[in-house]
Formats: sequence, structure tokens, C-alpha cells
Amino acid sequence: MGFFARLPAVTAVFVLLGSGHMAGAPAGNEAVAAMVAPESVEAGEPIQAAPRGAFGLRGQIVQGGVVIGAAPRGTTMLTFNGDPVTVARDGAFLIAFDRDAGPGAQLVATLENGSRIAETLSVAPRAWNISRLPTLPKYPVPTAEFQRLRPGELAQINGARRMQTDAEGWRQPFLWPVTGRISTRFGSQRIYAGEPGAYHSGVDVARPVGTVVIAPADGVVILATAKPFTLEGHLLMIDHGAGLNSAFMHLSRIDVTTGAHVRRGQPIGLVGATGRATGPHLHWGMKWRDARIDPLLLAGPMPAAE
Ligand SMILES: [Zn+2]
Repeated sequence: MGFFARLPAVTAVFVLLGSGHMAGAPAGNEAVAAMVAPESVEAGEPIQAAPRGAFGLRGQIVQGGVVIGAAPRGTTMLTFNGDPVTVARDGAFLIAFDRDAGPGAQLVATLENGSRIAETLSVAPRAWNISRLPTLPKYPVPTAEFQRLRPGELAQINGARRMQTDAEGWRQPFLWPVTGRISTRFGSQRIYAGEPGAYHSGVDVARPVGTVVIAPADGVVILATAKPFTLEGHLLMIDHGAGLNSAFMHLSRIDVTTGAHVRRGQPIGLVGATGRATGPHLHWGMKWRDARIDPLLLAGPMPAAE
């Protein structure tokens, strides 16, 4: 029994993702990530500053970065910038910092005895690759077909992101789904005649059509398009648990189905150029909750391509 055994179990939330999902798992027992319920925080409760390393944070506290920590012993609730954070039964948790996260962030653990431990994090800014173009149009003119199809596509993407699974890949060191030349980095942005376009929400790796894509970490498939989406093309989304998910775009083929558990390193599809892509490449985007994060910070330096 871990020291989280006394956590209230009533708030564990799981959404079944199709037949076979979580088969054989005793409900509420094998649940790995118990969602800690939000509680009202009494005003005036004294907060003690965390002793150095009280949250055992590992990772880079930077814009687009991901950090894994261990909640202090006796934690009954953990918040990050005021929002409850999922704490696993062994005390592990994951937080991440959006591409545009401000300089300050705060973790607060409420302990069994009602006292609270807080740690203020300073989020390092990144120097994003910004290019200024004087003339290019910001967006292509949307076609009637795009306007007809897009709402349904967005609904599928947003629905997938709302799913919670029993995936535990968030605890693993991440692999590159493909290796090769990085053609566009996360966070890159073009400014057209002074007007900023949307920044690049993932990392692009240029590889030929048909290159095998592997799962960077364990997870559960939350979206596998039956036909290519207008922008993302064939889109595969994998939940890694703890609010962390991956999206793989422009695939020529998807080899897994929604609800399937995938293992770190397992082939999941093939590189393509479907959707809005100027050439064959894999676009790998990652989100933690609503925060867009940089996959490179999880997968590390790109190894040499085979
Ligand atoms: Zn891309």
C-alpha cells in the first residue's frame, strides 16, 4: 500500500474507449491515476514554503517543457496554478508548461493534517524561431468543402482530447516516433506583414512516404481517422495518461484502432503527406491538458537516422 492509500477513491474518472479496453482490470483497483478532487481551500490557511526539492521535480521548467514530480508524503490534494493535478497512487505526477507560459507557476500540496506546502517555479522563456515575411498571405482562402468538413473534424479532435484512459506512458522516457531531419521546430512562427500567424504546434520530421512510425511511449489510441482530415490528413492521437497526449499528422496509413493499447516502440502507422502538407513528413504534436508542449524536450536530441 502506498501512502496514497487514504486518498478518497470516489473521484477516479475513466472513460472506456471501446471493447476490450481495460479488460480484466478490477474497476477502481488497478486504477493507476486517481484523480484528486478539487476542494475548497480555506482562506487564511498558512502555507509553508517548500523545503528545497519537496516535489522532486525532474525535467525542464521551461516554456513547452514537461516535468515529473513526486508529491510530498501525506499529500491529499495537489494543485498547479490553482488547478487540481492528477496524483498517481505512488505519488508521481506530471505537469507541463505551455509554449506561451508566463514566468511564474506554483505547486501547492495539501497534506492530511491540513497544512500546505507550496513551491514557486520560475518558468524559463525560450527563444522561438520567428521569421518575418513582408507579403505572404496568412491563410489560404477556405474552400466551401473545408467549411463543411471542419466543424466535424474539430469535434472529433476535441472529443478525443477529453477522453481519460489508464495509460501510463507519461512515466516513460519518450522515443522519437521517427528519426530524421527536423524540418520545422515546435513554436516556430511566421509574422506576415507585421501580423503573427499561428505558431507551429509540433515538431516536423522529414521522411519519405512509407517510413514506419512507432509509438513514443505506451498509450491508448483516442483517435484514428478513417479518412484524412482537411488539415491534419490521416491523424492518429494517443493518450499517454496524466493529461498528456500525442498527435501524429499527415500519415499515409494508420495501423492501430481507437481504443487499442499501444506499447512504446510499437509500429503505429506510416509517414505520408496527407492533409495540408507540402511534402512527406511526420508532424508530432503534444499537449498536456490545454498546454501545447515541445516533443523534443521529452524525446531528447534527435538520434542519427537509420
Ligand atoms: Zn508540422
